[in-house]
Amino acid sequence: MKPSEREEEYVARVEFDRKKKFEEEKHRKLAGDEKNRLKELHYMMCPKCGMELIEIDYKNIKIDKCSECEGIWLDAGELEAVSKLEKTGFDKLLSVFKK
Ligand SMILES: [Zn+2]
Repeated sequence: MKPSEREEEYVARVEFDRKKKFEEEKHRKLAGDEKNRLKELHYMMCPKCGMELIEIDYKNIKIDKCSECEGIWLDAGELEAVSKLEKTGFDKLLSVFKK
């Protein structure tokens, strides 16, 4: 191989790597956009029936209750927080949702 050919090969490879990185970055960004799109679509919607959730704040525990199927949903760490409530506190929490 002549020195000029070797250089052309090198330039082409660098160009390929640059474009490949650009595409990979684009794909990563796409995945992020898709995540955001899904989050916007599902935020505060019941995971079971898709209707709106009603959020109540009780002793700094935010609990989401479905306005349709009445399922109750907890965020990360909230199950532990609920489990630490006294029995009376737990009963009060449930009474918030009573009809
Ligand atoms: Zn529901």
